[in-house]
Amino acid sequence: MSDQARPRMVTLVRESLGLTQLDLGEAAGLSQGYISKVESSLLPLTGENLLKVADALKCPVELLVDDTPVQGLEVTCMHHRRRHSKINASTKRRIEALTHLTRVSVEGLLRGIELVPDTELHRLDLDLFDGDPAAAARAVRASWRVPTGPIHNVVEVLEAVGIIVVARSLVTNAQDAVSTWPRDGGRPPIMVVNLGLPADRQRFTTCHELAHLLLHTIPEDDQEKQADIFAAEFLAPAEEIAPQLAGLTTRDFPRLIQLKAQWGMSIAALIRRAYDLDEISDRQYRQFQIRLNQLGWKQLEPGALPAETPSTLTRVMEVHLSQHGYTIDELAKTAGMLPAPFKAHYRPPRETPPATPLRLVQP
Ligand SMILES: [Zn+2]
Repeated sequence: MSDQARPRMVTLVRESLGLTQLDLGEAAGLSQGYISKVESSLLPLTGENLLKVADALKCPVELLVDDTPVQGLEVTCMHHRRRHSKINASTKRRIEALTHLTRVSVEGLLRGIELVPDTELHRLDLDLFDGDPAAAARAVRASWRVPTGPIHNVVEVLEAVGIIVVARSLVTNAQDAVSTWPRDGGRPPIMVVNLGLPADRQRFTTCHELAHLLLHTIPEDDQEKQADIFAAEFLAPAEEIAPQLAGLTTRDFPRLIQLKAQWGMSIAALIRRAYDLDEISDRQYRQFQIRLNQLGWKQLEPGALPAETPSTLTRVMEVHLSQHGYTIDELAKTAGMLPAPFKAHYRPPRETPPATPLRLVQP
């Protein structure tokens, strides 16, 4: 480990906090010009000033000087689920930086622990499914042995195939989730899911992100539509849900509420599903939208579903605490964070033995 900060890391941590170079300079008692030169590799950041900058960035010095290679951030999805939402450039950089630092933390926490997923995860070529994302979704369901019918817990399915799901704030409500797949094929993909999403929305979002992870390597024009089609079929296969949506009318909201509970899909998504499967006409679809507006259900739907919480990282932290003799402070250090933000973002368990048998192997 060097005693000099890596310029790229200073930039990343600064951007993850939404600070400008001027903000950081002021917080550290240094000039904006100095910070700028540090980040441009024109001045080395060491000694007293390094401590000041780490303090202002609320991170351990170790994170800034860590010389393990910073992998180019591969964001497979930087999309806007809310159509009219706008993300400005600095928010976008902030989300990218947060995602990157989340990966640094996850990689740190996973060090010394080998995950043994139920199934190996492979990227899929959509051309093998004649370009049909629904066919790809059916194939994934089959190869992962997802039982027919509704998926009880989507996050559990994703974690079982080795995807690391992290629930943390993405500092904007315009972005539901981000997923990345490291270039190093041996490392697991990570899905960062924004906090505060209703469970039905989170379920759809995580399936949508799964489509990006499996199907998209370079940004494509219709990737968002493809991911939505994949998500809808993955959550509620047409063959099973179509008969239940047949003959739907705007008088059938009680039925939609019941289907929402059954399939874990929002009423809005079920109406969309009915439309896409030709169970309702254009006119009916518009009537449904008017009715949803009148009911105020576009903002808040009835029938909240149980939350889905990721558990892999929690179990990894449990192993470090109970079997490797780590303290919470040491765990935070492993994650490249100070204890307070680490506890706030990763909610480490108490130092008690794991309650359930682990599917983890320690090399
Ligand atoms: Zn997307």
